[in-house]
Amino acid sequence: MSARQWAYLDHAATTPLDPRVLQAMLPYFNEDYGNPASVHGYGQRAEAAVEAARANLAAHLHCASHELVFTSGGTESNNLALRGAALAARQQRGARHLLVSPVEHDAVAKTARALAEQFDFELEWLPVDGFGRVDPADVARRLRPETALVSVILGNNEIGSLNPLAEIGAICRERGVPLHSDAVQAAAHLPIDVSGLQVDLLSISAHKFYGPKGTGVLYVRQGTPLLPQQIGGSHEEGRRAGTLNVPLIVGMAKALELTKNEMEEQGQRLRPLQDELIQGVLNAIPDAQLTGHPRERMANHASFVFEGVDGNALLMLLDDAGFACSSGSACKTANPEPSQVLLALGLTPQWALGSLRVTLGRESTPEQVQALLSVLPALVARARQLELA
Ligand SMILES: *Cc1c(COP(=O)(O)O)cnc(C)c1O
Repeated sequence: MSARQWAYLDHAATTPLDPRVLQAMLPYFNEDYGNPASVHGYGQRAEAAVEAARANLAAHLHCASHELVFTSGGTESNNLALRGAALAARQQRGARHLLVSPVEHDAVAKTARALAEQFDFELEWLPVDGFGRVDPADVARRLRPETALVSVILGNNEIGSLNPLAEIGAICRERGVPLHSDAVQAAAHLPIDVSGLQVDLLSISAHKFYGPKGTGVLYVRQGTPLLPQQIGGSHEEGRRAGTLNVPLIVGMAKALELTKNEMEEQGQRLRPLQDELIQGVLNAIPDAQLTGHPRERMANHASFVFEGVDGNALLMLLDDAGFACSSGSACKTANPEPSQVLLALGLTPQWALGSLRVTLGRESTPEQVQALLSVLPALVARARQLELA
């Protein structure tokens, strides 16, 4: 990384670890190293820490402690939710239809495709509007008695849009079909209430809200059939085997608590910066569009497409100028294919290849937004010339 790198504007990819979270974790890397499954005092101390973290997370998510399963992050939570619930629904009631939004993170989209290809599920993609939002009426129309699972992302990582999840949840609940939501991005910006949202399964990941990488949670509503996907010891009530990662779990609970406490204040601080960024880009750059909904979006998220631009070339120009941004999803960098999410909005590949995502966070300043706006028009123009050359 160059020494001039100074503006980190990629909080949807990951966030810096909050120093208060690091402090909370440290004892569990050092003196309190016990295995929470052990009977002795070392084990008891570790177990007490894990159960305190679980209770704290449950209070913030509005569920019971035993409805939370610790995982290795958002990817594993999504895999466990889709595979575990789909395979259980097939085993218990012969259900083999999956209903999934077309704007999911790859951890959902590719898992759904794998279920179709390897386990013979019938995968149906829901329609979305031009902002990437699912209409609850479309869910109602497409639900079948043999639908195994519905999955709809809450806050979109690439385009920032929020889905009307509570309405979708009410429909799925009435029809008796489990609903999963990937709330990995949304958890940093919205209070997540799993009972209000009426979801049965919900994924979160600590490193998207200033916690450590490699740890997450899957909420599993009591009574939701779920086949474990990782087998071994009887950890997590048989739902996910493996010794619990005590320090990371402690850190995740602390990180969510701090995020919840500071969410409103951060939202009020970020909204005006988001507005300035979006208006500044649309006013100064020709052939530019905002992607995602103008209002129903997360407070830190600004995403665009520029016609006739190679998104990766633009990212490198930005990096040289000292700005760390993204083309959409961190996992898609270096992939010349246009994003499936952007194509689902109805954009042509010519537009979709020129994507830019700027995601603000706690350390982002008005000066950084101003500085970005002062260089971006010229960098987009340069990227366009590169395309023509
Ligand atoms: C980051 C992200 C994931 C993956 O989470 P990891 O903890 O990095 O595996 C899944 N879904 C969304 C929406 C994300 O933003």
